[in-house]
Amino acid sequence: MKQKITVLGSTGSIGTNTLDVVARHRDQYEIFALSAATQVDLMLRQCAEFSPRFAVMASRPHAQLLAEKIKQNGLATQVLQAQDALEKIASHPEVDAVMAAIVGAAGLAPCLAAAQAGKRLLLANKEALVVGGALFMDTVRRNGATLLPIDSEHSAIFQCLPEDRTSWARRVDSLLLTASGGPFRQRDPATLSEITPEQACAHPNFSMGRKISVDSATMMNKALEVIEARWLFDMPPEKIKVVIHPQQIVHSMVQFTDASVLAQLGTPDMRVPIACGLAWPERIASGAPVLDFAKLAALTFEEADARRFPGLHLSWQALQAAEGTTTVLNAANEVAVAAFLERRLSFDRIHAVNLQTLESLVPSDIHSLGDLMSLDAQARAAAQDAARRWCL
Ligand code: NAD
Ligand code: MG
Repeated sequence: MKQKITVLGSTGSIGTNTLDVVARHRDQYEIFALSAATQVDLMLRQCAEFSPRFAVMASRPHAQLLAEKIKQNGLATQVLQAQDALEKIASHPEVDAVMAAIVGAAGLAPCLAAAQAGKRLLLANKEALVVGGALFMDTVRRNGATLLPIDSEHSAIFQCLPEDRTSWARRVDSLLLTASGGPFRQRDPATLSEITPEQACAHPNFSMGRKISVDSATMMNKALEVIEARWLFDMPPEKIKVVIHPQQIVHSMVQFTDASVLAQLGTPDMRVPIACGLAWPERIASGAPVLDFAKLAALTFEEADARRFPGLHLSWQALQAAEGTTTVLNAANEVAVAAFLERRLSFDRIHAVNLQTLESLVPSDIHSLGDLMSLDAQARAAAQDAARRWCL
């Protein structure tokens, strides 16, 4: 029987890479549903290629436009648009696995719906876990869902950890997340205010969405990944460390109590962790080139410089603060990055907005998705105020 897959965020960098892997294994996987925000033409091409039962667009005008084009092209895909349409395609009884590749907190509700329905959940959307935290993990556990990390660092750690989860607390000394350091690893910190969106989005090794590209440049991406690792692997924050490794060949490492370190290596190509999550515990071809050890240059490691990357430490601070503080940090960062991409805020002030938002809000009483969403909205409003204060 073929596995039926829903891809949330199918037109993005992770979404298109997922479809690339699926297309190599049509005997094993079929696409049940796709979703996107605004890219109607790419969605139409994906519907023609993969014949999903459903396609969801984030707004009514985009859904209407897609529905017209689907009809003109004689395709059978049903187009949906509604607040609950993403939840529907994430939890539909016929779906086996859900690739969560929407960017930002917008992906949380469909992730929770997939977890509630006990699905195999392939999680690229790290913000959903940063926002959802304990509630997200409880939902996964209570409903017997299988959560598989797609973020390359977390996929690496998952592959290095022993299968028996109950042994982790005893055997594992620390998780070592590697970071590329982004395009400004060696830049003079005094010139950070001059960085443009184009420079920030030109990542040295990867082509990624704009939001994660800016997060890589500030290292807020790594801060979010520290929080992601805390929840995925149930690790105390002090056992999670970050090391800069510019070549991105070592995707992350696990250090054990006896001082032995296991690492996962490969070319920097997201199809590897995607294929790993799709097939786990089997292995399937990903399409990524293999490492050529004869040509491999030196692998180097260095410490992150706190003057260049002041946001990195916010992750440990937020994890130690009241529950919901990581939700506030994520919302602030989404607002600050959007303001930077729209040229309303300078690059160095992304951190200032994050810091000020964290200082202005102390969360309490988080029990439900509704509580998280209203905290997220409050934090966005506070971050907008902060961004306006520092606007260009
Ligand atoms: P992207 O911007 O390329 O794609 C995002 C996708 O989400 C698109 O299909 C877009 O249409 C959809 N989308 C955006 N906003 C939406 C909304 N409000 N409602 C519904 N759909 C929406 O981003 P990406 O680089 O593919 O990243 C996706 C997620 O995966 C992010 O959380 C990112 O942190 C994570 N991730 C990405 C990479 C990578 O290499 N690109 C690596 C690790 C983790
Ligand atoms: Mg990553």
